[in-house]
Amino acid sequence: MQYVTILGSTGTIGQQTLDVISQHPGRYGVFALTAHSNVEAMLQQCAQYQPRYAVMQDAEAARLLQQRVQAEQLNIEVLAGVEGLTAVAAHAEVGIVMAAIVGAAGLLPALAAAKAGKKILLANKETLVMAGQLFMDAVKQGQATLLPIDSEHNAIFQVMPRQAYSDLRDVGVNQIILTASGGPFRGYTQAQLQEVTPALALKHPNWVMGAKITVDSSTLMNKGLEVIEAHWLFDARPEQIEVVVHPQSVIHSMVSYVDGSILAQLGNPDMRTPIAYGLAYPERIASGVKPLSLIEVAKLEFEAPDTQRFPCLRLAYDALAAGGTAPAILNAANEVAVAAFLREQIEYLDIPRLLEMTLQQLPAEQVQSIEQLLAIDAEARAFVTQAIANMTTAPVRKVVSV
Ligand code: NAD
Ligand code: MG
Repeated sequence: MQYVTILGSTGTIGQQTLDVISQHPGRYGVFALTAHSNVEAMLQQCAQYQPRYAVMQDAEAARLLQQRVQAEQLNIEVLAGVEGLTAVAAHAEVGIVMAAIVGAAGLLPALAAAKAGKKILLANKETLVMAGQLFMDAVKQGQATLLPIDSEHNAIFQVMPRQAYSDLRDVGVNQIILTASGGPFRGYTQAQLQEVTPALALKHPNWVMGAKITVDSSTLMNKGLEVIEAHWLFDARPEQIEVVVHPQSVIHSMVSYVDGSILAQLGNPDMRTPIAYGLAYPERIASGVKPLSLIEVAKLEFEAPDTQRFPCLRLAYDALAAGGTAPAILNAANEVAVAAFLREQIEYLDIPRLLEMTLQQLPAEQVQSIEQLLAIDAEARAFVTQAIANMTTAPVRKVVSV
């Protein structure tokens, strides 16, 4: 039996991980489940999966969960806060850690799992965007196994040469080709983008995902974050990473080799495939995903991304080129801007505007430590929060609509 900690178990990836685990009852045991503050969802998961530990990031939620767990006579220890998250990520009895918290909040627990030498299934791309070098160093020092769960990176991992390399060219790789669905607004004009509401942005054509990543997919920031993620995972320079829009989301990504071959991984767009791949690696197990019917798909299309209409992708390349703390600044600014958009405090097109402004105003520094990155993350959040407060357009719209 292999024991699994699921960081962010109440989220989309967390639930899909539990789905795959339930298909292999003798093989995996749930050691710990964690969530931010949704006590009801956590209680339900606790009753169903009987983990040893349940962690709530929010202290009040942990107190409530503790009462409910006692009332229901469940034999589960409840922990709280980032200390609780790191404790279950690094616990000696855990073999596998699914890192599926959304945003920068996922960094410290993922880092704890890396230092403790776990098999890490990394869905939380923000960890690599914020602290790529430090995280990859921790994986190496802790002798952890890092398996990308993001569907594109999982696809690349599957078709990449297995031998170690210091330069991608040494193993014959010409380029990594990240596919992007293009999101729900692929064909939109600038004027139409101006009118995008949270409800529209939350409808992704191919994937079912949490709110933040769904909005990121629509702005192409998700692809931008994935470019930075690919840089760290595969030691790829920015010019070795190409983004291709592929609306069907059937090819999850590709690797182009110097001999002219392109290797791709295909499948139905369902995260249970990369999750099952990560859980069982290097074996393969059933995931519950329906086999892909190429006849039903019939047509695969490709086009270049439009970074004029979707500047977030370009901003991510810029941040990667600037290096140091620039990607962490971009990531923090994006989290605040997306949350403000979802609360209808800002317009859709304010998201790239705010990111561009933040990157221009906050200078990138060399990365020295996690503490420094966390301070810069806080600084960028404060900067964007203030910039939003200073904006006059959103309040005007609100007053008029009241
Ligand atoms: P989600 O919003 O559905 O779930 C997020 C989870 O994180 C929840 O369990 C929530 O309780 C927890 N969480 C949120 N804030 C937290 C905090 N401050 N502290 C502790 N826990 C917190 O998100 P998701 O779609 O499952 O995505 C999770 C991660 O996986 C993201 O980094 C996302 O980019 C990545 N990812 C998701 C998909 C997908 O298909 N959903 C695909 C690729 C990568
Ligand atoms: Mg992805």
